[in-house]
Amino acid sequence: MAKKIAVIGSGVGGMAAAIRLQCRGYDVTLYEKNDTLGGKISEIQLGKFRFDTGPSLFTLPHLVDELILLNEKFNIIDFSYQKLDKVTKYFYENDTFISNDNPHNWDLFSPNNKNRIVNYLQKNKLRYELAAPIFLQNSLHSIHTYFSKYAWNALLKLHSLGIFQTMHEENMSNFDDMRIVQLFDRYATYNGSDPYRTPATLNIISHLEHNLGAYYPTQGMIAIRNAMSEMIKICGVVCSTGAEVSQILVNNNKVKGLIVNNIHYEYDYVVSNADICHTYRKLLPTIKAPERILAQPKSSSAMIFHWGVQGTHPDLELHNILFTDNYKSEFEHIRQGNIYSKPTIYIYISSKVKKDDAPAGCENWFVMINVPHDQGQDWHMLAQNAKENVVKIINKRLNINIEDRIIAEQIRTPLHIAQETGAYLGALYGNSSNNMFSAFLRHANYSTDIKGLYFCGGSVHPGGGIPLCLYSAQIVDKLIWSYDKSKS
Ligand code: FAD
Repeated sequence: MAKKIAVIGSGVGGMAAAIRLQCRGYDVTLYEKNDTLGGKISEIQLGKFRFDTGPSLFTLPHLVDELILLNEKFNIIDFSYQKLDKVTKYFYENDTFISNDNPHNWDLFSPNNKNRIVNYLQKNKLRYELAAPIFLQNSLHSIHTYFSKYAWNALLKLHSLGIFQTMHEENMSNFDDMRIVQLFDRYATYNGSDPYRTPATLNIISHLEHNLGAYYPTQGMIAIRNAMSEMIKICGVVCSTGAEVSQILVNNNKVKGLIVNNIHYEYDYVVSNADICHTYRKLLPTIKAPERILAQPKSSSAMIFHWGVQGTHPDLELHNILFTDNYKSEFEHIRQGNIYSKPTIYIYISSKVKKDDAPAGCENWFVMINVPHDQGQDWHMLAQNAKENVVKIINKRLNINIEDRIIAEQIRTPLHIAQETGAYLGALYGNSSNNMFSAFLRHANYSTDIKGLYFCGGSVHPGGGIPLCLYSAQIVDKLIWSYDKSKS
């Protein structure tokens, strides 16, 4: 008889783990406390406007394709996406902008700086190829990882990984145009970190976007969730929504099952995709928690203004950034738990590509600023102040009166993100990566104390963001499978 596995949480990591394990032949049940699957990949409808509420940028799409290849019955799933020619349009304070396609075409910059950009991206390609097998694609906590040839390779070239410098320091030493420094510093925010603290290793994120490409699913970001939900249905994962797990049952240091709605269920393995802090504090109340790991500083969060906007704005593209003139101050404010009055503003308009996301003649604006994770701030007041500042900046930079064009609105703060997805303190990406040891201070994908207990998703190794969550599911799948094989 197939062994039974429970997966707690249907974020992208939990769904991928459930699909992989079911396709291996295990008998998998997925428990999700919300009524819909997807966790942070979610959507809202405001009148005739549809909005993605979570991720908007999609890299390494082959990680979803790999899931589709696991079962030939998945062939019927229509998951199409396009590579973006222009990823982000950057607006700077001095009214210059770059419509980002190929860095060779960034005419705004001097030929000297353009050459440096090409060399910089090549350096980060090599760095990524060195770091990914050890830091992203395998368990950093398994001894086997360190006996592999790629581990020795990485160790021998440790200096080139950039762990002894910050991202900002390295970018400053590469470019003499502050606009380029700011552009590349911004990649720290892709995992909720601070470019003035996070190691230069994280500059590999620019390689993902510029060399490997950024993509957009034809049916919007929610299509990632929808494709995975279909796979779950087709391969036979039992899916229980509106089902909050209240405890993981453990006996003699071995997982026994879990409790949902006061009913005990037995399982051979449990995979928690819930935030690691929630998993220990709520689901394992009698087990000694790894306090040092749980106490690591959390990543930043986001404040999002979902605006149904009347009129179309040809100056804007799918992804747009209005940069602040003082990035340093913006991050200093976040470090202190505050929001800078002149923040960098990200505007994502999915209706530029997926036309039916807004009624004719209108656009759906997802306007986001980086904010600290929740530390008990008055989010209602902060949101009112932030909205005033954001409106002022947009009006000045785009030369419009945006407040007159907003016909639908919903504002989301870190409190919403925490309540809806169980993200501890509303942090988007679990722990921040603001020091050189961060990678080693994320929780492993398995428990060293409780046999049969595994973890996936953005709050554990290798970290947050869709691709890394998908890697965490791959790692968990391999760990369970090889453990089982070693026992048989
Ligand atoms: P989560 O999405 O965190 O889901 C966990 C699930 O577990 C939730 O559904 C929750 O309800 C459920 N759960 C928790 N506790 C229980 C319980 N006790 N019982 C049952 N169910 C439970 N990433 C990118 O790659 N690109 C981006 O552009 C990007 N932008 C982002 C913007 C925003 C606003 C946000 C919020 C995130 C963004 N991210 C982005 C990050 C990315 O969305 C996440 O890293 C990823 O989706 C997290 O997936 P996960 O597997 O960790 O699970």
